[in-house]
Amino acid sequence: MDPYIPGEQPSFSDMIKLNTNENPYPPAPGVEKILRSMDVSKLRLYPPTDGGVLLKAISGFYDIDEKNIFVGVGSDDVLGTAFLTFFNGDLPVLFPDISYSFYPVWARLYGIPFETPAVRDDLTIDVNDYKRPNGGIVIANPNAPTSLALTISEIESVVKANQGSVVIVDEAYVDFGGESAIGLTKKYDNLLVVQTFSKSRSMAGMRIGFAIGNEKLISYMFDVRNSYNSYTMNYPSVVCGAEAVRDRAYFEETRDKIIKTREKTAAALKELGFDVPDSRTNFLFIEHKTVHAKVIFEKLKDKHIFVRYFNKPRIDNRLRVTIGTDAEMDRLLSELKIIING
Ligand code: PMP
Repeated sequence: MDPYIPGEQPSFSDMIKLNTNENPYPPAPGVEKILRSMDVSKLRLYPPTDGGVLLKAISGFYDIDEKNIFVGVGSDDVLGTAFLTFFNGDLPVLFPDISYSFYPVWARLYGIPFETPAVRDDLTIDVNDYKRPNGGIVIANPNAPTSLALTISEIESVVKANQGSVVIVDEAYVDFGGESAIGLTKKYDNLLVVQTFSKSRSMAGMRIGFAIGNEKLISYMFDVRNSYNSYTMNYPSVVCGAEAVRDRAYFEETRDKIIKTREKTAAALKELGFDVPDSRTNFLFIEHKTVHAKVIFEKLKDKHIFVRYFNKPRIDNRLRVTIGTDAEMDRLLSELKIIING
C-alpha cells in the first residue's frame, strides 16, 4: 500500500499552522451552542442514515432536492465512495498530474486504471485533455495545490463531452472564488459535484462532506456505502453541520475576510519576489525567484510556522500556504522578509 500522507498536525502553543488549508476562524457561533446544549441521551440511538437535518439544511441552502444529495464523513469519504461506485471499467480514469494527491491513492486501492494528463507549465488545466475515451474523470475546481480555477463553461464542456462516463468535480475550495457546477447537475446526469465543510465552513474536525448529482448516481452511492457501513454520519456532526449551514451571514463574513487577507498577502508576496498564481482558494501556491522552497519551508518550520511542501516533480520549488488571520499572515511575511533578504 502507498497511502495518502496528510499534512502534519503539530501542537506547539505558539505555532502558526498554514499547512492543511483549515479555516482560521471558529465554526458559526450556533455550533458551540448546539454542542453545549446537546441532548446527550440521543447518542443512545443510531443516527439517521441519510444525514437527517443536515441533509435538509444542505437541500435548503443549495435549493437541491434531498434525493440528489449524498452526505459523508468529510469529502474524502464522499470521493472515496464515488471512486468505488463509478470507476470500475477497463478504460483509465483521468485526473491532472498535479492535483489532490488522494486521487491516485484511491485508484490504486480499488484497482482502477488511471492516466494523469499534465497541466500546462503555468499550472493551468487544458480541458481538451479530458475529451477522449475514459473510465471517468475527476477534476478539482479550483484545483489543489495549484489554487487555479477553470471557468464554468470549461467544466461544462468536459461534462458534455463525456456523457458516457461520470465526471466528478471536487469543489473543496469553490466558496473562495470559484464558480460552482452544482447548477449543472440539473442538466447533466453524469455530473457529480463534491463539497466539504472543512474549509469555508470551518469544520474540518467534524468531518462532513457531500455530493450533489442525478438521483440515480446518488442512490448508487448509497447502495455502495450501505454495503460496508450504513451509519457513517454521527449525531453531533449531523446537528452541528445543519446549524453551520443555517448561518449564511457568518459563512459569508468569514469567507470574505479570508478572500481579503488572501489578496493582501498575495500582493505582499509578489513584492518579496514570489510568483503567486491567481488563487481562487484559501491558499497560495508560491515560488520564489531565488530562494528554494525547501529552504524556506525548513526555516519557517524552525519558527513554528508550518506550510506545505510537496517533494514531487514539477512542484518541488513551490510552497502551499494556507490563508490564516491577518495577524498570522503578517508574522509569516515578516519571517519571509528575514529569510529572503538574509
Ligand atoms: N479535496 C481536496 C481538493 C482537498 O484539498 C481536500 C482536503 N485535504 C479534500 C478534498 C478533503 O477534505 P475533507 O475530507 O476534509 O472534506
